[in-house]
Amino acid sequence: MTATMDTETAESFQSLNPATGEVVGEHPVHGEEAVNAAIARARDAAAWWGGLGWKERRIRLLNIKGALTRSLNRIAQLIHEETGKTIEDAQLEVVMAITHLDWAARKAEKVLGPRGVFPGLLAINQKCVLEYQPLGVVGVIGPWNYPLFTPVGSIGYALAAGNAVVFKPSEFTPGVGLLLADLVGQVVPEQPILQVVTGLGETGAALTRGAVDKIAFTGSSRTARKVMAACAERLTPIVAECGGKDAFIVDADADVEGAAEAALWGAMSNAGQTCVGVERVYVVDSVYDSFVGKLTEQAGALRAGEDRTASYGPITMPGQLDVIKRHIDDAVARGGRAVVGGPESVKEPYVEPVILLDVPDDSAAVCEETFGPTITVHRVKSVDEAVDRANATAYGLAGAVFSGSKATALSAARRLRSGMTSINAVIAFAAVPALPFGGVGDSGFGRIHGADGLREFARAKAITRQRFSTMNLTSFQRTDKDMAKALSLVNMLHGKRYK
Ligand code: NDP
Repeated sequence: MTATMDTETAESFQSLNPATGEVVGEHPVHGEEAVNAAIARARDAAAWWGGLGWKERRIRLLNIKGALTRSLNRIAQLIHEETGKTIEDAQLEVVMAITHLDWAARKAEKVLGPRGVFPGLLAINQKCVLEYQPLGVVGVIGPWNYPLFTPVGSIGYALAAGNAVVFKPSEFTPGVGLLLADLVGQVVPEQPILQVVTGLGETGAALTRGAVDKIAFTGSSRTARKVMAACAERLTPIVAECGGKDAFIVDADADVEGAAEAALWGAMSNAGQTCVGVERVYVVDSVYDSFVGKLTEQAGALRAGEDRTASYGPITMPGQLDVIKRHIDDAVARGGRAVVGGPESVKEPYVEPVILLDVPDDSAAVCEETFGPTITVHRVKSVDEAVDRANATAYGLAGAVFSGSKATALSAARRLRSGMTSINAVIAFAAVPALPFGGVGDSGFGRIHGADGLREFARAKAITRQRFSTMNLTSFQRTDKDMAKALSLVNMLHGKRYK
């Protein structure tokens, strides 16, 4: 049994290098039947994998991690070819995926394994065990912007929790998914614990209709709604990692130079195609001019391109160029000032850096996810105003606060309506496997990464074992004496007044 699909299909599609237009690979379009066959095979694989036990799974997952590490350059090269991102960014993506796989493998038993739970005095005769069992088969639908790191945030944690996975990569990056499954299959040849189904949106839709136990989706909020509607038919739970419109706040006493450097990287790296990328910057009045000066100066050194010295690559999904252009045009038409680049910066397949000032809060560039190397910078009176304006969006994925005051930064971080906030850094949380990753509102729900990410792919199982009988309360033989004893105990335990 191979980890990749071998079903005959009439149709196929190509993945292209977005920088050169060259064909990177040709892959079958898997339909409903092929997807269901993969799910059926995954069911058997899940029974075997789930029955292996923590130690055996950990060894295999650590060996998968080793295989990824030894293949780092090969994987990075393919990520580079399919997405157009720089080789260094692709290498960094593989490193991040390896780090997460390592954490999930090592921590799964501690987080999910059986543990004793104190039963409370009223149930003192019960011995209690809580454990987290695998769900079975998890369907993972991945994006193209981080075609390894993002899916591994679900696949790695789902496997570590004892599930088998059927993975539908984005049609723009199927090769990376297939390479991952191939490496997993080499380390674990016994059963296809990770299979890949390839195709367009309809293949993903077939997976959401299939007999899976959970769907882990990453992509747009629009598609997440369709996925959720399809999953409603079977009551299949989902975890949804959608887009964002992340805010970056700069306080009056912040390290302005460092903040500009971080905001620029957060907005422009990977051509801005990062769900937790910086899209809006709110700067306190007194440092606004100096921040904008440093930001524009640093942006002047950036260049989009395909060669090794380029700062970032092309826009991976051609249709995204229209979205980026529309946002820049709208911002400028409505009084926004482009201090770096402008509408002319969109030069298919590239977009040069664009920095926009004075853009109205209700324009597309401020409200909708741009997913390009553009940034809007806004002047605010205080960090409080920055938090209010940052929160005035349906999205709520991540964000950053730069401040010289730990207390101010922490308070702002807590009040930002988002799943993650970095203080005096940008996107730092993504590199910390112990921290959960996920959003609120239109940015989705549920969590990947960390202990929460492991639990996302497991179900809690509660077991009690009666060791001796005490008050006979749950029986028709219950006596008045039993009830009196119980009520007197409750009074003693819970009846007192607290000051
Ligand atoms: P989509 O949400 O359309 O696609 C994400 C994944 O879902 C892909 O694998 C896609 O397959 C699959 N898919 C598409 N339709 C369905 C369906 N009906 N049922 C199940 N799966 C489906 O995102 P796009 O790639 O089109 O990007 C659009 C926008 O989404 C971007 O502009 C960006 O704003 C946002 N986005 C956010 C990401 C994030 O990291 N949060 C990642 C990617 C995009 P296929 O690719 O084959 O169509």
